[in-house]
Amino acid sequence: MALDLHKRVYSSEVQASKPGSLVVVAGWAADVKSLGKIAFIKLRDRTGYLQLVSTDAKLIEKISKLTNESVILATGKVQASKQKSGGNEIELKEFEVLNLSEPKMPIDISGKIQTDLSKRLDYRVLDLKSPRNLAIFKIRSQANASTRDFLLAKGFIEMQTPKLVAAGTEGGATLFQADYYGRKVFLSQSQQLYKQYLLAAGFDRVFEIGPSFRAEKSHTMRHLTEFTHFDFEMAFIKDEEDILNVLEEWFVYLLKDLNKKCSEQLKLLGATFEVPKQPFPRITYEECLKLLSTVGVKLKFGDDIGTDEEKKVGELIKKKYKTNAYFITKYPYTLKPFYIKTDGKISRGFDFEYDGEELASGGQREHSAETLTKQIKEKGLNPKDFEFYLLPFRYGMPPHGGFGLGIDRLIRYILKLENIREAVLFPRDPERLTP
Ligand code: ATP
Ligand code: MG
Repeated sequence: MALDLHKRVYSSEVQASKPGSLVVVAGWAADVKSLGKIAFIKLRDRTGYLQLVSTDAKLIEKISKLTNESVILATGKVQASKQKSGGNEIELKEFEVLNLSEPKMPIDISGKIQTDLSKRLDYRVLDLKSPRNLAIFKIRSQANASTRDFLLAKGFIEMQTPKLVAAGTEGGATLFQADYYGRKVFLSQSQQLYKQYLLAAGFDRVFEIGPSFRAEKSHTMRHLTEFTHFDFEMAFIKDEEDILNVLEEWFVYLLKDLNKKCSEQLKLLGATFEVPKQPFPRITYEECLKLLSTVGVKLKFGDDIGTDEEKKVGELIKKKYKTNAYFITKYPYTLKPFYIKTDGKISRGFDFEYDGEELASGGQREHSAETLTKQIKEKGLNPKDFEFYLLPFRYGMPPHGGFGLGIDRLIRYILKLENIREAVLFPRDPERLTP
């Protein structure tokens, strides 16, 4: 008798079933044990594990030939488990092998033996079998969904913009270049240009969650060469404060939604986070310099706040304001890109910081074509190269601003993962192009 795949239920449903009922289950034989007069299959599906047990000689014989990670379809009677952990198990009546796995896995996925991240990424498809990884990517999926829910309810329009572009927006140093029918083509570093185009066109509020590419040469725990960019822009703002308000409201909504909808996954990962109180502190760049000087770090106006100093600022702010989520505002114009609004000295650009690390950058943009042309020149760039960028500014551009945030970093920070690569299915860095 062939078992009916369509009748399959998840292991979590078996836990909720009455003892005595007959069920069909399917999944991976995570751990197979044949002990002479009794045999066990620890079955894994996307909802968890389930013990299948048999004392039938024929079935025991069949189980003894089964390899770990084989895919099976099984039926049996639900019974209360005699194990300490409790719950239900299944007394096997019959099972089919849908696909037999090779007997030896190149990495251990049970969590018993630690494999270093690099090797895990080499065998990522096997590594992803672990419930821990499934939990990370369920949370990531929910984070995208919650972000969409929040923004669509606020009247934002989701966009998909080109990734093959004729020029960069974030400087030449991190541009990937390729041949495009005899011309140069670049991989998009951000959605900056196109989101501004759409505001000129009258879309009013736009966002995208899509890939961006940067030829980062550094090997850090927070940089990848391909990352998922959540980019957001809105028109008719008074100043950057309007952006900060939406950003912090989104962040609080997101964390609350994740706590509500992913409690099981967060528990499995042992991840907890506090939902920060609104408003998040707005700390000016100059205030950061003052804070740093109290611990002997001397920086002068215009100096970049490096990674170590940024961490230090995070600790000092945590002490003073009792929060790990805050904005650094009013950066010097020299530290921000040409498209930011400025009085010539101080820009309307900001960073959103979490635990002393940058999660997003944004600001109010300059919307006058004339001033922009001046700023392009001031940054040592040639306005001729930005003709395509400047065009919409000549035909009615409203005041506007926005931000860009890395989803990979977001997941890494809120789950406190050591390395950004753990938050990405198939990460790309200077060495890694496969799998
Ligand atoms: P950093 O200073 O940390 O290198 P950035 O200031 O160059 O970042 P932005 O241009 O401000 O980056 O990009 C906006 C956001 O996109 C960043 O705050 C970050 O969350 C994300 N991001 C930028 N570059 C990368 C990258 N190489 N890998 C992963 N995320 C990135
Ligand atoms: Mg930045």
